[in-house]
Amino acid sequence: MLFNWEFPPRYYSQSLDVLETSINQVTAYHPWRTCDPGRDHPVDVRYTAMPALTKINIRDNFPDGLVPAGHDVRRALESGEIGLTSTSGSSDVSVTNIWNQEWWDASERASWKLNSYASKLATGNHPEAILANPLNVGFVSDNLDLPMDKRRASRFLFLNEKTDPATWSSELMDRMISELEIFKPVILEANPSLLAKLCRYAAEHKREVFQPGLIVLTYEYPTKLHYKQFRKVFDVPIANSYGTTETGYVFMQCEEGKFHQNSEFCRVDFQPLKSEHGGPFVGRILVTTFNNPWYYIVRFDVRDLVHIDEEGKCPCGRNSGIILSAVEGRIISATLTCEGKLVTLSELDDALSVLDGVDEYRLEQLSGKAYDLHLVSQRPDRSILTEEASKLLKKLYGKESKVSVIYEDALSPEDSGKYSVAKTLFHINIEKYLD
Ligand SMILES: [Zn+2]
Repeated sequence: MLFNWEFPPRYYSQSLDVLETSINQVTAYHPWRTCDPGRDHPVDVRYTAMPALTKINIRDNFPDGLVPAGHDVRRALESGEIGLTSTSGSSDVSVTNIWNQEWWDASERASWKLNSYASKLATGNHPEAILANPLNVGFVSDNLDLPMDKRRASRFLFLNEKTDPATWSSELMDRMISELEIFKPVILEANPSLLAKLCRYAAEHKREVFQPGLIVLTYEYPTKLHYKQFRKVFDVPIANSYGTTETGYVFMQCEEGKFHQNSEFCRVDFQPLKSEHGGPFVGRILVTTFNNPWYYIVRFDVRDLVHIDEEGKCPCGRNSGIILSAVEGRIISATLTCEGKLVTLSELDDALSVLDGVDEYRLEQLSGKAYDLHLVSQRPDRSILTEEASKLLKKLYGKESKVSVIYEDALSPEDSGKYSVAKTLFHINIEKYLD
């Protein structure tokens, strides 16, 4: 498949530099030399011939195997030029990453250019409130409530210090609402599950909420249900920012709703799914970072699926890099129909988004044909809701599917601090589904 993407002038020279440096000077990539067709081949062909980098590869080569020869990681850690950061969670491989704050900030600044509200409002010293799980960012304090000044760091205010949002009290949510009013953030950066929970509370109790200039969603896949709940409270632009700890900022949603590649800071290789599993426009992405001398991340499998924009252009006029119509969700959130066809989180979310009166959901596929749907709902007519939900899932997964609907008071995040919206209780090897 040929796409007519345009890239900034330096994109190919940066791609080439990173590849050459990695296979020649960075230990983790030395074994890749045997895959390299050589310098007389175009850089895209050389990248395509290389394997993917996994979290396990990062862990096995950490830290010296991920920086070029001559870079002394220990000395840079001592001088504070770099730091370390860990990602964890029982459903995922626990990995420590090299953290280069200067590079991270520069990657974020470049991503702002891809959304006109962000480029106008984000100055780099604008006040920003963050509603996230403190396991991901901020300060953890589960037993004691931290006062506002203990949740500040430079221009940021962290609105939440609790690791399980299912335990949020109404006092805590009232505190968040009043702190937004006091702090008046220009940008509110939010984990969508947490923001949706605050919005449900504010809407139900008719609380007025301060309106920031822009809401930036990150950390998780935002569902259509989340957006419905945001819109009951916020009448401001919302942009989804896609990235990972390893790769920095990779895609930013523009004001027209499409996603643009942060191509000054990363290369993205797209691998389509087989057509019977949703390809060729839906597929996996492998991300290579640019400009970070302290961490060489090449063809990193971020384990997300994306939907390439089929028109290949956007009404906003930005035409530099890959354009997506959607991020389809985590690979770990993909499920299978009874016939074995891959269903992305986005497809599941489309199917369930027509349900009324649902606060939260989580789908678990137990086996080839058994699906448990966990629902949080205030609706009194549960038997009707159960019937509606079962019908939607049977349509998506097949007539043979056995659907159980289980009602919960609230859902809690995984150990990683992030919510799982869908998962299989068995392993799916995504390589089998790629074209
Ligand atoms: Zn656009």
